[in-house]
Formats: sequence, C-alpha cells, structure tokens
Amino acid sequence: MKNFTYSRAENAEAAVSLISQNGHAKFLGGGTNLVDLMRENIEQPDALVDVTQLSNEIVETADGGIKIGAAVKNTALANNKLVRERFPVLTQAILFGASGQIRNMATVGGNLLQRTRCYYFYDDAARCNKREPNSGCDALEGFNRIHAILGASDSCIATHPSDMCVALAALDAKIFVVGKTGEREIAFDDFHHLPGNTPHLETDLQPDELITSIEIPALDFAKNSLYRKVRDRASYTFALVSVAAALEIENNSVKNVRLALGGVAHKPWRAFAAEKVLTGAEATAETFRRAAEEELKDAKGFAHNSFKIELAKRTIVGVLNELTETGGAR
Ligand code: SF4
Repeated sequence: MKNFTYSRAENAEAAVSLISQNGHAKFLGGGTNLVDLMRENIEQPDALVDVTQLSNEIVETADGGIKIGAAVKNTALANNKLVRERFPVLTQAILFGASGQIRNMATVGGNLLQRTRCYYFYDDAARCNKREPNSGCDALEGFNRIHAILGASDSCIATHPSDMCVALAALDAKIFVVGKTGEREIAFDDFHHLPGNTPHLETDLQPDELITSIEIPALDFAKNSLYRKVRDRASYTFALVSVAAALEIENNSVKNVRLALGGVAHKPWRAFAAEKVLTGAEATAETFRRAAEEELKDAKGFAHNSFKIELAKRTIVGVLNELTETGGAR
C-alpha cells in the first residue's frame, strides 16, 4: 500500500478545504471498500480526510420524511425506529448487505460511493476501462455471470454492488452535497452514471464535493414495501438480481408503486417503464408480468449472465405478488 497522510475534519467546510489542498486526496468514511482498494493498489490516494465525525443524525423532516447524515452507520440506519416503521424496504436492503461487522463500520455516504465488484476491476493483470481508461474490458469476453444486463456499454458491463442504494432509488431519495462552490441537491436517479465510454466517472460528484446528507421524502404507502435479494449463497455476497418495491392498491388496481432493481446495471436501476405499466392497472400477476417484460425489453445478456433477464422478471412479479397479499389493498 502506498503511504498517505491522514487528517480528521471537524466539519464539512473543513473537510472540503482539506480535500481541495491535494488533488489526490480521498474522503474516508468507514473505509470498508476504500481501504480494501488501497491494499490492492487500485486506489492510491496521497491523503485521507476522515469525515466520520460529521453528521451522524437521523431526523424527521417537516413533511414526515427523514434526513440521514452521511456519517450515519448502516447498522444505525437499519435499526432506526422511523425507518423501520415508514420505510421497511430500506431496513431490509441494508440487512441483506454485507456482514454485521461491516454494517457497523460502513457509513451511508460511503455506501453510495462503493465501487463495483467486477473481478477484473480488482485484477491489475486484467484490462479494465474503469481502472485504466481506454485499456479495454476483459469482462466482455470473460466470465461475466455477475455483470449488467441493462444500460451497459462496449466500454464496461459492471454492476453497482449496493443493496441500500436500490431501496433509496425506489424511495425517491435526494442527496445533499457541499463543495468549494457551495451546497447543492442531486436527485438519486441522477447521482450514479451509466458507463457510456467513461466508466471511470461513476457519479455526479465533483472531486472536492462531500456528501453531507440524504433525504427521503414522505411516502405513506412505503409502509407496504419489500426488498428481495437473489444471490448465489445465503449470506455475505452481492445480488445477482434484487428488487425494491413499495405498493398501494385501491379497488384492486395499482394506485401507487415504486420499483427499483439491483445487480443489473452500472447504477441502481429505477424501473420507470414498469411503474408506468403498473399505475392504474388491475393488480394481477398478469399485469405484473407485463410490467416486468416492459422494463426488461432492452435487456442484453452476455455469455454467462443471460439467465438474469428472466430472473429479474420473476423477481419483480414475486415481490409485487407478495406486496399485494401482505398489505397493498386499502
Ligand atoms: Fe472494468 Fe467495467 Fe470491464 Fe469490469 S466490466 S473489467 S469494471 S471495464
């Protein structure tokens, strides 16, 4: 591992000032991904600015939503009473991610910025456009079981690894950041990028910008929500496909729905096309299948991951069926 300096920021302004002084500095949250990447020499910062002392509060907003400080630990967020009651999909998604020890360390802000688990990204003997722009992508013709089926490009077919972010995508979260030019707000769906021909540029964040908080607006029907993660073993691995959904049914029709997919794209994938089919339609398994078909109509599989297309459709239908049975009707 390359030598680096360490400093601890007392507030967001100091953090931005410290990071601006060094073009190769990184913010340090729980370090559960960054430190691994530093050990593998994939990330080689000259300086780390520890931001774990910044906001670690979860507060109720005036409209009944919640605002989450970026330094809140994943465990604290999953166990928060308001979150468990109003946004159970978020608690479930976090508890499906990683181990208890990692969740105790990992921060909410860091979770948004974790890097892909593509095997070739971690192998410096492999070609990887994300690690080294314009070097090629060994996943395209390699072993690509865990790779993307939606929104990929000829430059990169990696997936975003987070479970928590899939729930945040479904819940219309907003991300607040601060940088040298001041504060701004980013819609969750705009935060992570699709790879295009610049897969190394993963988010909308500028190098000097710090995530300060995440806000989830009030969403009454999110009390009836569910996260399902399909994976190769029962614990401590990443999703092949996951679905986060919230559903409200009135008079046997879908009144409101939010749907997002994980494990299928370079970003948490908000299923807008499926939501359009579902809204106002009769709440039946046939409708749910039609919505899933619409969402996956442009999906493209590679040598080892084409099974994900049908798996994603079935998982969408299964989750919506379960939400219909367990509380969607009012
Ligand atoms: Fe790198 Fe993306 Fe290709 Fe993986 S899929 S090797 S991360 S460019």
